[in-house]
Amino acid sequence: MSVPFLDLRTQYQSLKNEILPEIEALMSQAAFVGGPALREFEEDFAKYCGAAHAVGVGNGTDALQIAFRAAGIGEGDEVITAANTFVATVEAIVLAGARPVLVDMDPRTYHMDISRLEEAISPKTKAIVPVHLYGDPVDMDPVLEIAERRGVMVIEDSAQAHGATYKGRTCGSMGALSGFSFYPGKNLGAYGDGGAVTTQSEELAQKIRQIGDHGSLKKYVHEVLGTNSRLDAIQAKILRIKLGHLDSWNDGRRRAAAGYRERLGSHEALQLPMEREGHVPVYHLYVIRSAKVAAIDAALKEAGIGFGYHYPKPVHLQPPFSQLGYALGDLPEAERGAEEILSLPMFPELRDSQLDQVCEVVASAL
Ligand SMILES: *Cc1c(COP(=O)(O)O)cnc(C)c1O
Repeated sequence: MSVPFLDLRTQYQSLKNEILPEIEALMSQAAFVGGPALREFEEDFAKYCGAAHAVGVGNGTDALQIAFRAAGIGEGDEVITAANTFVATVEAIVLAGARPVLVDMDPRTYHMDISRLEEAISPKTKAIVPVHLYGDPVDMDPVLEIAERRGVMVIEDSAQAHGATYKGRTCGSMGALSGFSFYPGKNLGAYGDGGAVTTQSEELAQKIRQIGDHGSLKKYVHEVLGTNSRLDAIQAKILRIKLGHLDSWNDGRRRAAAGYRERLGSHEALQLPMEREGHVPVYHLYVIRSAKVAAIDAALKEAGIGFGYHYPKPVHLQPPFSQLGYALGDLPEAERGAEEILSLPMFPELRDSQLDQVCEVVASAL
């Protein structure tokens, strides 16, 4: 492939000498679950996010599901989130036993349309889940204001937004709870699955830890129904090393995004990601929107350039969510977005020559 969509190998080569001796040492100590490696990463990650606590869990879906359970959300409750998101956000609400209520997409920000948020609130609403999709922070001030006034909780889905900031506040520090994923392709990615929940509340942090460890805070004392969802020591070690590079990787992504804007900004037929005062995005994905997406798709394929759709079919139209009662046409902006939004290659090491190549192909298709 002439330009890959994502390049994790180049990054590993640059980290190999730092990571391998640490893993070797950990293996020799045989401390595989919990222990100092996990505590150290949790402390560093909490500090990085501007949160008082971070608790490692098995993956990002569990992070959200356990956050809902720790917040007391379950059967009979409603949780509001964005129609345009990765399936896991909605899946976690259903797995926690609650009912997802979806707010249609704002066609310019791709986030939930905040002007329609309040009409989605009912007496059963327990929480709002803003999704910092594609690495751009949601406009949190109005979300927090509505939540506070209506007495519902805010739980962030920060799975695509490690290090992104909104008016000086880091994603993961603004809601009562926030879920992160460390899936390998995320901005901060493990070498396997991983996730974390951040919170300012000591009490909620304890509950998360308890639920993720068989409902237990003391060995063989199980006070609530929990599950097994822990972050491995090996992943914690790797993540702690990678966390030290995250700011410079996010800078690399912003540099690549600026390069795309420079090269593609003059095309009328393309909508580039919105740049907003007070938002410092981390470009987990670089999405363009166009009615000519089929032509761009064909040209990129022909040139061997990697690309993707995030997401090709909205969650409400996927079979496991049919019982929610949404039909085609109910969330029209999300449905239209699914047909017009395409993701170009994006990773910190993306070179200018690669940007030239991708942008020439996109331009030729227009
Ligand atoms: C990746 C992701 C998740 C889930 O994370 P996993 O670690 O894959 O379970 C949740 N929400 C969003 C928006 C994501 O991108």
